[in-house]
Amino acid sequence: MAWGGGGAFGAGGHSGSVSATGLPFGGIPSELQAGVDRLLESEPDHPRATATFRQRPGAEELRRLSLWRLVRREPRLLVRALGLIVVMSVTMQAGPYLTGLAINDGMLPRHHDLAVVVIAAAAYLLCALTTALAQRSQVRTTGRLAAGIVNHLRVKVFSHLQRLSLDFFTEEKAGVLMSRMTSDIENLQQLLQDGLAQFAVQGLTMLVITAFLFVMNVRLALITLGLIVPALTAASVWFRAASARGYLRVRDGIANVLADLSESLQGVRVVTSHNRQRHNVIHHRNVVGRYRDANFYTAQVSAIYGPGTQMLSVLGQGALLAIGGDMVLHHSLAIGALIAFFLYLNRFLQPIQLLVQQYNTYQQGQASIVKLNGLLATPPSVEEAADAEELPAVEGRIVFDRVSFGYDPAVPVIRRVDLAIEPGETVTFVGPTGAGKSTLAKLITRFYDPTEGSVRIDGHDLRRVTFASLRRQLGVVPQEPFLFAGTIRDNIAFGRPDADDAEVARAVAAVGLGEVVERLPQGLETPVHERGQSLSSGERQLIALARAFLAHPRVLVLDEATSNLDLQSESKIEAALDVLLEARTAVLIAHRLSTAMKADRIVVVERGGIVEVGSHGELVQAGGRYAAMYATWVSQAAVESAGLAGS
Ligand code: ADP
Repeated sequence: MAWGGGGAFGAGGHSGSVSATGLPFGGIPSELQAGVDRLLESEPDHPRATATFRQRPGAEELRRLSLWRLVRREPRLLVRALGLIVVMSVTMQAGPYLTGLAINDGMLPRHHDLAVVVIAAAAYLLCALTTALAQRSQVRTTGRLAAGIVNHLRVKVFSHLQRLSLDFFTEEKAGVLMSRMTSDIENLQQLLQDGLAQFAVQGLTMLVITAFLFVMNVRLALITLGLIVPALTAASVWFRAASARGYLRVRDGIANVLADLSESLQGVRVVTSHNRQRHNVIHHRNVVGRYRDANFYTAQVSAIYGPGTQMLSVLGQGALLAIGGDMVLHHSLAIGALIAFFLYLNRFLQPIQLLVQQYNTYQQGQASIVKLNGLLATPPSVEEAADAEELPAVEGRIVFDRVSFGYDPAVPVIRRVDLAIEPGETVTFVGPTGAGKSTLAKLITRFYDPTEGSVRIDGHDLRRVTFASLRRQLGVVPQEPFLFAGTIRDNIAFGRPDADDAEVARAVAAVGLGEVVERLPQGLETPVHERGQSLSSGERQLIALARAFLAHPRVLVLDEATSNLDLQSESKIEAALDVLLEARTAVLIAHRLSTAMKADRIVVVERGGIVEVGSHGELVQAGGRYAAMYATWVSQAAVESAGLAGS
């Protein structure tokens, strides 16, 4: 990092209090500059972020997640963390051994050597210091490892979401997706950051202690471990199972309490009017009672395990005292070693208890991996063909060739539709709600694939071309324009972020957005707040039209907004549409006959099929469905204008 001086933050810094324009604060006070420089220097250099997105995932992206594959991503950090953990586990457990050594070789009357005591004490201190330093470094390293992995995972899952087809993103799935992206990934982060390291540290600690015990006295080590390990293991296995059961009961219990509470509160009127209060209290008492029992159960489990393992350790110490004491008397064990055994026995207990506690974190992390794998294994329902070709620049002739389609293949929504739309033509779809107009439009943009037949542009079957080349030439204006966080300019240049100012200005002028922009405080650079709630509905639509204009697609698919606009906005939108539809193939889903009648051809859709096609004049003349709709509309308009005149 080379952010020396005050340069990076403008004119502040060394020169004192001059605030640079456009900066949120008045620069860095000179007395703090040195500290800031140091901080910046100690910042790790992150490589330039490279994010690629491919519609078809590569082999690497398709591999299932596993803990090992995840941690393996950063081999250097992993090796360093493991090395530090080994160092830590050894230095942390050297204490009792050194104590034993100091007693045996320094304090006992036969040696009486101060030097040994001092050296052992110094070594003890050194070990403690090394442990502290190694621990600090290890926490940092695993923190970085976890952060890097989780970062990678977030981008990976997000990329997968970008790849999935429209049918995946229904309302009910939004909640599940949010929970995958938040709680599941956080569970994993927890596991990677603390859990795995704890597992390694505690596991190694037990190994290191065992090694020290064997180094000091094999026979006593065998006896000690033989006494304590089986009992502790059995207690821990029982505790894990019992506490998992208890945890489930507590979780269900609180869910039931909350559900009952919310139902009673919401239905309070019905409860009162049917005199159900007493019944409700009894019911709630039972629900709360079950929750109490569950809590009591977990308390009992802990009450058995905690003191139980303490008890085991005390029993172990008693046995050790008897057996070890006997060995000391028979000169087969040094007294210092016996003391070290005592100290180690206490230390042996803690890792087992911690491992049992960490097991939950591990299970939750594993469960999250399973769920994330489920999400990542979901293929897009509309997939790009492996040998998809680039769609060359098209003129815009769209053909539906005996197309049938159903969201659920068993329930056809579109039935054998044949339709050809000529380049440059404007066609509107009209018909009752649910007839299949939007579905036809979604087939043109290949949000879905037909179950039978094909949709072609200039003779190219949509299933044979790449998504990117198809959508580059398609413009879609949805019914409700969606504005993203950013400025108005960003929103207009959404499809072509590289567009220059002149192009954006042309798009703004073309759809008649100029006046609106001039009125805004910062013009095009005005930020859009909360999806554009501060803009009127008409203004949002104009921005969406400008967005489509700037992308100059060959084919435009537009779902006319149904929102009621004032007359002025409506005429503006109509003028913008005239400009936008010029010289390109356009498919409009019209909700107003005033829009429909201006099209080159009108397609009347009913129950998934096309019932009439023709110009406004032709269809009115033919006296069919469209003529009837038109007649209703005219008479309604007449009533309305009579009403207006009368008032
Ligand atoms: P229109 O645009 O003419 O109002 P649509 O094309 O939206 O009609 O809908 C046609 C039929 O398909 C309707 O019966 C609708 O309920 C059904 N439908 C629309 N979208 C979906 C979807 N995502 N999943 C299942 N069914 C859908």
